[in-house]
Amino acid sequence: MRFVVIGGGPAGNQAATTAARLGAEVTIIERDVIGGAAHLWDCIPSKAMIATGGAMGDLNKAEGMGLRRVSAEIDLDALKERITAIQTRLEGSVCGLLGSQGVRLVKGTGRLVGPHEIQVDTAEGSELLEADVIVLSTGSRPRIPDWAHVDGQRVLTTRDAYPPPELPSHLVVIGSGVTGVEFVHMFRSFGSDVTLIVSRQQVLPQKDPEVAAALEDNFLSRGVRLFKGARAEAIDVAPDGVVVRCDDGRQAKGSHVLLAIGSIPNSDNLGLEAAGVESESGYVIVDHNCRSSVPHIYAAGDLSGKLPLSSVASMQGRKIGEHAMGMHQAPHRHLDYEKAASAIFTEPEIADVGLAEADAFAEGRKIRVTKVPFSASAKALINDDPRGFVKIVSDPATGVVLGGSIVGRHAAELISVIALACTAGLRVGDLEECLLVHPALAEALAEAAE
Ligand SMILES: Cc1cc2nc3c(=O)[nH]c(=O)nc-3n(C[C@H](O)[C@H](O)[C@H](O)COP(=O)(O)OP(=O)(O)OC[C@H]3O[C@@H](n4cnc5c(N)ncnc54)[C@H](O)[C@@H]3O)c2cc1C
Repeated sequence: MRFVVIGGGPAGNQAATTAARLGAEVTIIERDVIGGAAHLWDCIPSKAMIATGGAMGDLNKAEGMGLRRVSAEIDLDALKERITAIQTRLEGSVCGLLGSQGVRLVKGTGRLVGPHEIQVDTAEGSELLEADVIVLSTGSRPRIPDWAHVDGQRVLTTRDAYPPPELPSHLVVIGSGVTGVEFVHMFRSFGSDVTLIVSRQQVLPQKDPEVAAALEDNFLSRGVRLFKGARAEAIDVAPDGVVVRCDDGRQAKGSHVLLAIGSIPNSDNLGLEAAGVESESGYVIVDHNCRSSVPHIYAAGDLSGKLPLSSVASMQGRKIGEHAMGMHQAPHRHLDYEKAASAIFTEPEIADVGLAEADAFAEGRKIRVTKVPFSASAKALINDDPRGFVKIVSDPATGVVLGGSIVGRHAAELISVIALACTAGLRVGDLEECLLVHPALAEALAEAAE
């Protein structure tokens, strides 16, 4: 089976290694860096910068831990080196894995020129590949509205911020979704003043209002200015700063502005029409097996228009590899996007999975909600960080766990327990029966299950 993957991010890499492990002859085409935008621009550098901001925050809170006050100052060059070192190491390990499975790597830009043919433009010329199965996993890039002229100096996308050429004295962030709020938190931790333009009345408009409120409270307590109900519509750039003009007449002044208003798929010039692959707004239309309108062409990751998460991209890639090689074709093996855990790496950290309380009420669905604050947790007090809570949503009739949210330190790790419960169909009673470590933040999960 000849298996060709275009795009070496988490979706493409997983599809390639899975298919190769199951016996396919696999080629992966990547124009930039193996690991994809996930490693180069998104998950890894953003979380590395947030970790550095967190280390600064911990040092600044040293007195609360019984230490004499120490203070930290950011070193942008050292930070850049640290990010590059992490990326290089990750790239090496993904390339090692691909190599160990016998995957052929072609450095170049691929595009479909027919249902089974792919043309690759490389530095040396072009190559025509033929495939029995094709995986499109070319990801996405930041959306830039026509009123914004990104210059990488004062007007930035997330890709210009790892780290930016200078630390903004005052950053205006446009967009209050997951990416926007993470950058607010990141730059506020580094000491920048920050203004956030929030188009609705709530930051994180898709999230449980109680969870969003916890983040808003934190932002306000740290001096972040919120422009709620305002849509940015123009940016004026002067040598010493920027002014973001909003549709309600308000103006946000800053030294720099960062756009975090979503992404667009990398499907232009991919040759979708040449192969008869249907798309909508640039996203490839896929079925529950990630198959496009052409059965032997799959699409995964951000290009598939499902949940834009690296974790989801990887899982789609694995499922594609298995499906194309004839494994796990039973319906119960389909990916259930509603059970994907996700996290927001702010302070406090936020994570959720499955059914949200607010959505259940909106649907008129009967649920049981239990909530336990971390202020009652011994480990949270030991950590000097008793903020946040655990909330578990379950079915009142059967006790089956339907979802949950966690706000607080290590939420991204702790949500795994609720995610596992949702995926495995566990009941709250199963969580309650689990003998956990003491003292540990996870004890709050067992308490919320009581
Ligand atoms: C700022 C930010 C932070 C994020 N943080 C997280 C996080 O913490 N956790 C999380 O789960 N998700 C996070 N995401 C989302 C995550 O980055 C994406 O969902 C993930 O990268 C999608 O993976 P992918 O494989 O679809 O594409 P990508 O990772 O974008 O990889 C696609 C690859 O295809 C290559 N390519 C494109 N076109 C071609 C072509 N024609 N030929 C050859 N190669 C091509 C590109 O060079 C790229 O390497 C974040 C996103 C952003 C913007």
